[in-house]
Amino acid sequence: MLRTLITGGAGFLGSHLCDRLLGDGHQVVCIDNFLTGSRDNISHLKDHPRFSFLEHDVTKYITVDGPLDYVLHFASPASPIDYLRLPIQTLKVGALGTHNALGLTKAKNACFLLASTSEVYGDPQEHPQKESYWGNVNPVGLRGVYDEAKRFAETLTMAYHRFHGVETRIVRIFNTYGPRMRLHDGRALPTFMRQALCSEDITVHGSGNQTRSFTYVDDTVEGIVRLLYSKITTPINIGCCEEISIIEFAKKIVTMTNSSSMITHHPLPENDPKNRQPDISLAQELLDWNPQVDREDGLQRTLAYVLDKINHSAKTTYAS
Ligand code: NAD
Ligand code: UDP
Repeated sequence: MLRTLITGGAGFLGSHLCDRLLGDGHQVVCIDNFLTGSRDNISHLKDHPRFSFLEHDVTKYITVDGPLDYVLHFASPASPIDYLRLPIQTLKVGALGTHNALGLTKAKNACFLLASTSEVYGDPQEHPQKESYWGNVNPVGLRGVYDEAKRFAETLTMAYHRFHGVETRIVRIFNTYGPRMRLHDGRALPTFMRQALCSEDITVHGSGNQTRSFTYVDDTVEGIVRLLYSKITTPINIGCCEEISIIEFAKKIVTMTNSSSMITHHPLPENDPKNRQPDISLAQELLDWNPQVDREDGLQRTLAYVLDKINHSAKTTYAS
């Protein structure tokens, strides 16, 4: 039986990966220190016979008993408001956490997968972004703590591959959404849905003409797993090609929820990328991967989750 370690397994993407790999028959060891994750995301797994959990900060030496076949390194704050309030932790988990996870992988003779990001392209001057593009990142800008940590993590991963012969994979994940995103994590989609459902103003940054390409979580997880099982050691973009402006996106959510919320404009955060759209030719050719969930369907599934969370927190507040 395959045995897999997932760092950041109690987070949004990590918890979906725990589910998926348990479904594939793996034994899953999840490590998390709950910096931005939640016990709720993995509470349904606590009695699963092939699931175990270690509460640990991966910037410190990682000890895992027994063999490992795969190490998936997902631990890191990922939302802009998280990494802006946790700059040092973000740099440490990208640097020291990646180093520890790679060291463990090497000791166990396992295969390592790094959760990298479209942010390595920064505010891109090439559009759409191919894996061959080196990016446009401001190293001393506010977002640099995340972007440069991930760029360093990619370099370290390649060094372990080239120098130590460790099997490695690098996935560059584009904006992913779906159930288990935190309602207050500041990312556009859960924020707009929460605001629309609670009749609050929808807070669009800048004019809203900046674009993103949003991918539903099941599609992202499928792409990551296909890459994991492949032999590809160069970075691979995983994301949806359908680009949308943030203002259009805000209007879409207002319409979907039949909300009376007003759209309001707020200062654009520093170095907020103007455009983002992946070129996914490599994932299509090498992994036979394409996003399957259409936007309407993905948004409806996420909306059901957000609504449930709002109702649950209203009941808890009422009861207390
Ligand atoms: P998340 O914040 O929900 O999950 C991150 C998890 O890592 C949390 O559970 C957190 O507690 C844990 N963590 C952070 N520092 C840790 C440490 N030092 N030790 C142990 N655990 C620690 O974020 P997410 O959206 O699930 O992102 C997961 C990974 O995917 C991140 O590495 C992120 O950079 C990458 N990624 C995500 C997206 C996206 O759209 N969600 C896009 C690109 C890349
Ligand atoms: N955004 C916004 N209002 C919000 C939250 C985000 O207009 O309340 C914008 C943000 O400035 C960015 C886009 O939406 O231009 C996507 O932001 P998100 O935090 O989801 O992801 P990222 O910036 O990392 O792509």
